[in-house]
Amino acid sequence: MKTVGHFINGVHAEGKSGRFADIFNPATGEVSAEIALADATDLDAAIASAAAAQPGWAATNPQRRARVFFRFVALVNQHMDELAELLSAEHGKTIEDSKGDIVRGMEVAEFVCGIPHLQKGEFTEGAGPGIDMYSMRQPLGIGAGITPFNFPAMIPMWMFAPAIAAGNAFILKPSERAPSVPMRLAELMIEAGLPAGILNVVNGDKTAVDAILSHDEIAGVSFVGSTPIARHIYATAAAHGKRVQAFGGAKNHMIVMPDADIEKAADALIGAGYGSAGERCMAISVAVPVGEETADRLVAALAPRVESLKIGPYTDPATDLGPVITKSAQQRILSLIDSGKAQGADLVVDGRGFSLQGYEDGYFVGGTLFDRVTPDMDIYREEIFGPVLSVVRASTYEEALSLPLRHPYGNGVAIFTRDGDTARDFASRINIGMVGINVPIPTPLAYHSFGGWKASSFGDLNQHGTDSIKFWTRTKTVTARWPSGLREGALFSMPTMA
Ligand code: NAD
Repeated sequence: MKTVGHFINGVHAEGKSGRFADIFNPATGEVSAEIALADATDLDAAIASAAAAQPGWAATNPQRRARVFFRFVALVNQHMDELAELLSAEHGKTIEDSKGDIVRGMEVAEFVCGIPHLQKGEFTEGAGPGIDMYSMRQPLGIGAGITPFNFPAMIPMWMFAPAIAAGNAFILKPSERAPSVPMRLAELMIEAGLPAGILNVVNGDKTAVDAILSHDEIAGVSFVGSTPIARHIYATAAAHGKRVQAFGGAKNHMIVMPDADIEKAADALIGAGYGSAGERCMAISVAVPVGEETADRLVAALAPRVESLKIGPYTDPATDLGPVITKSAQQRILSLIDSGKAQGADLVVDGRGFSLQGYEDGYFVGGTLFDRVTPDMDIYREEIFGPVLSVVRASTYEEALSLPLRHPYGNGVAIFTRDGDTARDFASRINIGMVGINVPIPTPLAYHSFGGWKASSFGDLNQHGTDSIKFWTRTKTVTARWPSGLREGALFSMPTMA
């Protein structure tokens, strides 16, 4: 059976911890490989290689650093089919969806090809008599990234591309559920010309993460995953003096105004609610139609679409959505559906009995639709992370707006309307990081930045865009005078330019 080890100093390493976990094929429930779980000794080996390589990489001029990414992007394109197959086999999402995962990550690698421009400092000539002032953005040193299972290609690239382009060395700790694509991406970075030691992959679980959070030589930590772990990472890394950004879970609403095109809104909800089996942090899990008539029309449009979803393994090209990631995720989703029914929601389409011939042990959940959900129910309060959509009926725009406003999560939100005033008011007043106007999954492109508000994000700077370059660098400001003969004598008061 295949064992996924670590990738340290440019080569594969078995690891010394002696701890392993199983990797499952979620479509069959069978063990497909085992993964080594690092301990502090394995992390130390990665840190030693990173520390040895980083000064030389930081001193490499930015055009040369950029060229590694030009070549990396070409290699990712060349290996697209192979990467998508690896990703789908461990995650369960369709091949087309895996390609989207890879492309959205690769776009950040394309973005950092502009690092010579992105990392430029500022310069003021004549800030005082004979004085020039300039600032530069220098790498932090060694950064670490801890990533979730649901985007095994995209999120690692969102982290390591800006960190490495800016001159840092990087330790990636991918999800233990889907580590093969991150390992392959690290190999491709070496093939693209990255010096050994600049990108290390340390696989593992909480033990590896805790070693990262307390390691003296790691200067910055980026995390993406669920909110309870994001809070832990933020508090612990900060307590150890590290720069940290931690992105958490979500409960994304889509408001459907009475003037919206209901057929288009229903199509958007199906893709955004059930695509990737609902395992996206930008998935729509709550639809909020405004007015009883809008709600009746929307539910009537959604129900047949949910009933006819094609759920199956990624190997079947007709599949719309695959299984969820683990048996325990499947059981948790099924019990949340039970709770929705028990707490009084109207279960319009029940996905609990779903079974597929030949895949009886796979972690499948049928598409599920609830109507008349209320804010006190567990299915509204919790992130389900499965193919379950809740309809919460609102009688006015203000009532609809108040739902995402009051919800603890603040990752994404959308409104479907033909009315510009309403859309503009919504975008201005909502307290959520990413807003879609007639766009159900408003994931910003690589040159803008990605991040939620409230319990969906801890820390200041966002992922990708210029924020990512700021996160992975620190500013140094130099004040320089080249005296031309003028002698001022000792100055005892605070110098000013007045
Ligand atoms: P998770 O929090 O279980 O795991 C994320 C990472 O943390 C993994 O690498 C895992 O090994 C590690 N980890 C898990 N438990 C830990 C612990 N007790 N201590 C230290 N480290 C631990 O998340 P997941 O199930 O892999 O991913 C799904 C979650 O990620 C969802 O909540 C989803 O909304 C969220 N997510 C958020 C974003 C975003 O940008 N906000 C993007 C994608 C996914």
